[in-house]
Amino acid sequence: MAPIVKECDFLVIGGGSGGLACARRASGMYGVKTIAVEAKRLGGTCVNVGCVPKKVTWNAAAIAETIHEAKAYGFNVEETAPFNWPLFKTKRDAYIKRLNGIYARNLDNDKVEHIHGYATVTGKNEATVKLNDGTEATIRAKKILLAVGGHPITPQDVPGAELGTDSDGFFEIETQPKKVALVGAGYIAIEFAGMFNALGTETHLFIRHEKFLRSFDPMIQDAIVAEYERLGIKIHKLSKQNKIEKDAKTGQLSIHYEDSEGAGVLENVDSLIWAIGRAPEVKRLGLDSVGVKQDAKGQIVADEYQNTNVENIYSIGDVVGKWELTPVAIAAGRRLADRLFGGPQFVDSKLNYENIPSVVFAHPEVGSIGLTEPEAIAKYGKDDIKVYNTSFTAMYYAMMEPEDKGPTKYKLICQGPNERVVGLHILGLGSGEMLQGFGVAIKMGATKKDFDSVVAIHPTSAEELVTLK
Ligand code: FAD
Ligand code: NDP
Repeated sequence: MAPIVKECDFLVIGGGSGGLACARRASGMYGVKTIAVEAKRLGGTCVNVGCVPKKVTWNAAAIAETIHEAKAYGFNVEETAPFNWPLFKTKRDAYIKRLNGIYARNLDNDKVEHIHGYATVTGKNEATVKLNDGTEATIRAKKILLAVGGHPITPQDVPGAELGTDSDGFFEIETQPKKVALVGAGYIAIEFAGMFNALGTETHLFIRHEKFLRSFDPMIQDAIVAEYERLGIKIHKLSKQNKIEKDAKTGQLSIHYEDSEGAGVLENVDSLIWAIGRAPEVKRLGLDSVGVKQDAKGQIVADEYQNTNVENIYSIGDVVGKWELTPVAIAAGRRLADRLFGGPQFVDSKLNYENIPSVVFAHPEVGSIGLTEPEAIAKYGKDDIKVYNTSFTAMYYAMMEPEDKGPTKYKLICQGPNERVVGLHILGLGSGEMLQGFGVAIKMGATKKDFDSVVAIHPTSAEELVTLK
């Protein structure tokens, strides 16, 4: 059979959030001949094993919480009604499959040729793609984008670690675990722990330090750790795992560990999930063949314009690892397409990585934008910042018994005589939806006076942010 050789102007390796956004803008908006190669399912991490199925599961967990809370509002709700995990999973899988189809159609509409296969860079303007049927195609391109994302990591030094799974495996769990153990202290461990607990699974969270979400403001760390303890999640602090074993008959796991209370064995664990971070997906990408620079963690080094050190090779998204968030990968991808193909008015187009808002879909949600208090002090000095705090019980909880009332805490960090807002940290019901609008204001350089000039919307929790004293 004759070898397959294709030519294009723009080759995008990786059909996830960043790659697809960039490819569609290049082809759909600027008419650039573009080929996108994806090894697995279109949509990448976010659509298949990330944001989307996670948020749908978070919604299920929020409904479980509402069912519990409904009694306080006078509803005679049967709380023991079991959650049908298999039905939920089937519907969630079908939704993701529909999205995969929509993504393929979107590429067709924007005239992006998409190829299913694994791409390896073989030259400055060339890659080979291993197709599903085992054959290979060579693609020659004027420009190449590396948007290959990352994968979850598991520990190498814990015997039996392979008996656990990771965030990808979470989405494969067919029946609801009765008892689950999560190891990790970042977004994923905290989101998964909150969801399992709300859905009625006995939840153990193993962290290496006293607190989790340690990159967040100390107020957030303290409040969410206390709230998870109040909700009944067993947090194993200062912990490490020595060994994992599996019972051949039941398939259940035993975790031999040490934590702040001493050594112990957690038995009858149905699922162990490692959520200890992610690594770039670069092993077989062929970076060495063209000399694309990587940092100590293996991430591709790209400048503020997403240029790698090799001319006409660019990189965006998780593989660059600045902010591992879907909207960051999308925004960087679109700005890059504008710059490369959009003409003279876009020569300076790039993503500003300052003041990026993000939300942890914990229970309750946590939102953050800008500097934490320690970061603001380090940058401007203690005397140049002013911090406003509030802590209250949202009106939603007014009808509930004290043990069912969750926390709401907000912190606003201002700098200079004009009190420019340089950080906002919020925890409580609705924080995810609330933060986006405040993000616009902060991006525009809002001051405390600007916040105070807005008439409050009553009765909401958000109104507390425009009446801070
Ligand atoms: P990806 O989406 O990972 O896409 C890369 C694609 O490249 C993959 O599909 C991969 O198969 C493909 N690929 C890799 N190598 C090759 C190759 N050599 N040839 C061909 N194809 C290749 N972010 C948020 O903003 N909000 C959230 O709520 C959120 N929740 C998350 C929950 C979880 C459990 C996880 C794991 C992540 C979550 N994220 C969230 C992060 C978000 O998913 C990522 O930041 C985002 O997907 C990064 O996009 P990307 O395009 O860089 O990479
Ligand atoms: P993170 O890097 O955010 O967190 C992992 C954490 O686990 C580390 O920071 C570390 O915290 C802890 N850890 C590392 N090694 C070990 C170990 N051996 N044992 C115990 N704990 C360990 O990774 P995630 O996997 O949680 O998420 C990856 C990225 O995906 C996030 O950074 C985020 O950008 C994105 N994401 C975004 C979401 C959202 O927007 N809502 C949701 C999910 C993911 P410590 O040092 O405190 O021990």
